[in-house]
Amino acid sequence: MKIVTVVGARPQFIKAAAGSRQLRKEHEEILVHTGQHFDDNMSAVFFREMGIPKPDYNLGISGGSHAQMTAKMLVGIEEILMKEKPDALLVYGDTNSTLAAALAAVKIHIPVFHVEAGNRLGTLDNPEEVNRITTDHAASLNFCATEDALDKLKREGLGDRSYCVGNIMYDSFLHFADLPWEKKNIVDFEGNKVEVPEEFYYMTCHRQENTYSDEPLTEILLAMNSLDAKTIYPVHPRNQERARRICKENNFENIILTQPVGYSDSVHLTQNAKKIVTDSGGLQCEAFYAGVQCVFVLDYVVWPETMVDNRNQLAKADHKDILEKLSKEQTIDPTYQPFGDGHAAEKICDIIRDWRK
Ligand code: UDP
Repeated sequence: MKIVTVVGARPQFIKAAAGSRQLRKEHEEILVHTGQHFDDNMSAVFFREMGIPKPDYNLGISGGSHAQMTAKMLVGIEEILMKEKPDALLVYGDTNSTLAAALAAVKIHIPVFHVEAGNRLGTLDNPEEVNRITTDHAASLNFCATEDALDKLKREGLGDRSYCVGNIMYDSFLHFADLPWEKKNIVDFEGNKVEVPEEFYYMTCHRQENTYSDEPLTEILLAMNSLDAKTIYPVHPRNQERARRICKENNFENIILTQPVGYSDSVHLTQNAKKIVTDSGGLQCEAFYAGVQCVFVLDYVVWPETMVDNRNQLAKADHKDILEKLSKEQTIDPTYQPFGDGHAAEKICDIIRDWRK
């Protein structure tokens, strides 16, 4: 088959690293980058480090309102689909790139394959929820990361075209977790190399809810600054000015602010951290894979499978709540593996091969 894959944001590059490697063993893949994430350390570094093929097209579309971004992507992706005439379109996750690609394809009768389908937060206030629901319903094949996601799609009447294959991010995680950690590419905002302390906490925080004003981010950093080891916090480019100012004004000397790190560094920071505090959907799963306890700072659960035995706890953007959650100990049941076996990409390709036979 000829398959057009559309990616645009950091977590999609990480998923495509595993997906493209497998897909290209038996299909022709045309890779489209919408340009949603464009900084070197949010985009190009993943293509370089993770061996993702160079995109055949880069639409260079980022910024603007949801409608502006999605509308531009719809037009750009449709043009590519009309030219390439693929047998199918494959998308990952729940970004505006996912939604635009799925809509563009389904309207011109190109079947859509959706990887990481079926996740639901239960609120349309979350913009990604709209992307997820719309894409799942436009898709001919839905690949779910967990049984819970598959159950949700069954309840929405999509059971006949939905499969549980495990989390494709786990494929990438396992691949990089086994490689040695070079530690040489972690740099501060000025580009100077950062020394990674023997013991540290790993934090990421980039969601609108926690970074739209000083208050929530200050609360999170206040909690991290009072811990018994330093915190490494790679900061999304959008939030660097705010994070730097808050740390300076409050004398948060226990926080090490860095540029976003590459995937290998993120995986190794995860594996070696004392604990993790994040508002990232992907990082909380990686903490779970690594057996490192996580506190997830948001108002709603994203991956219910991880919220067991204190392995991942929800906290408000409130320093007392975060510290209380961090003070608890986790227990790990090694037989509990809700994200599959790290071979999601192979399972996806098996199902695509048998599809419509
Ligand atoms: N990540 C990374 N470098 C960083 C921060 C995160 O490689 O500086 C990885 C992290 O390991 C995870 C993914 O990026 O695999 C999460 O992406 P992001 O937080 O942008 O999106 P979300 O998970 O919230 O959708």
